[in-house]
Amino acid sequence: MKNFSYSRAGTSQEAVTLIATIPNAKFLGGGTNLVDLMRENIEQPDALVDVTRLPSGGIAESAAGGVSIAASVRNTAVANHPIIRQRYPLLSQAILFGASGQIRNMATVGGNIMQRTRCYYFYDEAAKCNKRKPGSGCDAIDGFNRIHAILGASEYCIATHPSDMCVALAALDATVRVTGPDGERAIPLNEFHRLPGGTPHIETALKANELIASIELPPLPFARQSRYRKVRDRASYAFALVSVAAALETENGRIRNVRLALGGVAPKPWRAHEAERVLSGAEAGREIFRRAADTELGPARGFRYNSFKIELAKRTIVSVLSELVGDNQ
Ligand SMILES: Cc1cc2nc3c(=O)[nH]c(=O)nc-3n(C[C@H](O)[C@H](O)[C@H](O)COP(=O)(O)OP(=O)(O)OC[C@H]3O[C@@H](n4cnc5c(N)ncnc54)[C@H](O)[C@@H]3O)c2cc1C
Repeated sequence: MKNFSYSRAGTSQEAVTLIATIPNAKFLGGGTNLVDLMRENIEQPDALVDVTRLPSGGIAESAAGGVSIAASVRNTAVANHPIIRQRYPLLSQAILFGASGQIRNMATVGGNIMQRTRCYYFYDEAAKCNKRKPGSGCDAIDGFNRIHAILGASEYCIATHPSDMCVALAALDATVRVTGPDGERAIPLNEFHRLPGGTPHIETALKANELIASIELPPLPFARQSRYRKVRDRASYAFALVSVAAALETENGRIRNVRLALGGVAPKPWRAHEAERVLSGAEAGREIFRRAADTELGPARGFRYNSFKIELAKRTIVSVLSELVGDNQ
């Protein structure tokens, strides 16, 4: 790992100024992803600007009736907060299914959103990777691609976004509030992460020098009835092969409100809009859940080792939605 300087920002404004004035600087959250990437020489910043001690509102109810979560709040604190556990259980569950207790104690909300893919070839300096080195190619496409994307990939990149937390945020229609040299702006979480297209190295809508300040969760009363299911190779300390975040409300057996997002299957947290369209207003039950899953996964494309994810994603959707309507068979 090469040498770097370290500064701790006291305010958001100071953080934004430092990042703009120090050449090749990066924000530092808990360091649980960035420091690993620096050790592997995948990221080589000359300076780190620590943003974990910025004054913040922590986790607070917003004027709109939702909840605001500062970017520096640790993942554990979000997962354990009573309001999150009661009103947005899928978010609490998603976080607790990720990483380990120690990592969640360090990891911040901002860092979780910005964490980078776990594609083996991205981490291997000897491999071709358009995300790490634009124009070099993608060794994952014809390589060992068991963990890779089945939706939203391109001929340049088939890496998945690894976050569990972001899948729940996608289902909840969260908003990312950012601050930068041009002031503040809000980016819908579902527009924050980009599909790779021909430029997989551009991963988010965040501009250079912009800081994630907070996440806003809208009021969503039916999210009290929600679940996050993660399917993975080991019961802990493993990234999702497929995950499903869902919230469902029925009235007289018909689906009144539904939110569905998938993880582990795409280069970004995947909001399942097509499935939601099939489900809205329909009579709840396994048949319509399967039809919705078939519709969402219709455009899915498997590669040599990951085609199993298509059926796995469909079955996980059906299982989670069935559980939400009390059908646990
Ligand atoms: C062994 C292991 C297992 C894991 N398993 C899982 C898992 O199962 N599920 C899962 O979801 N995650 C998992 N993770 C990933 C973990 O969740 C991330 O490493 C963590 O969320 C990153 O947060 P951080 O604060 O440490 O970010 P850092 O490592 O500090 O930063 C990550 C990136 O975010 C940027 N950044 C940080 N804060 C801001 C900000 N406020 N504004 C703009 N940019 C910012 C940094 O510049 C950097 O580019 C695992 C990690 C490890 C090491």
